[in-house]
Amino acid sequence: MRTCTACELHKSRTQAVFGVGNPRAEWMVIGEAPGAEEDRRGGPFVGRAGQLLDAMLRAIGLSRETNVYIANILKSRPPGNRDPRPEEVAACLPYLHRPIELVRPKLLLAVGRIAAQNLLATDAPLGRLRGRVHHFGEHNVPLVVTYHPAYLLRSPAEKRKAWEDLQFARRVFAQTVNPESNDGHRC
Ligand code: URA
Repeated sequence: MRTCTACELHKSRTQAVFGVGNPRAEWMVIGEAPGAEEDRRGGPFVGRAGQLLDAMLRAIGLSRETNVYIANILKSRPPGNRDPRPEEVAACLPYLHRPIELVRPKLLLAVGRIAAQNLLATDAPLGRLRGRVHHFGEHNVPLVVTYHPAYLLRSPAEKRKAWEDLQFARRVFAQTVNPESNDGHRC
């Protein structure tokens, strides 16, 4: 996988960046693509956006070291952090489906428009995808959408809505692991 040349991005990347975390994690966070820092260091979400993602996860009692698996739609950095192209996403999706299959998370959290639209095969705007439960793949894994932490760094006023999304995701998760739980009524 590290030597993958399935798309043009292999020519400009420093290295391919694969998912990290607990292979038995119940939550999987999916972002867009490695940025400059991730390309240099070889792990997902290790730059400033990653620090905010860690804080967001901590706020709902999760951490990448213990109970989350973190991955991206693309494994190679697009030059200048441009949006992924459809053919790049298509070439890379098997590298995302495989860990989803192996980890079998109980909840997928898509951070940002690119992750949400590609996982859900839609071009609906992020604002319309937030606040409801979607389902992914043949196992119908519940999927919740929120803002990308890099966007939140640029637009801190939106953090309140991201917090609402995280609380919503927590309720969806509670409902999934325990359908009898009262938490679920507010989903
Ligand atoms: N943004 C992403 O979507 N993923 C990363 O790994 C880093 C920044």
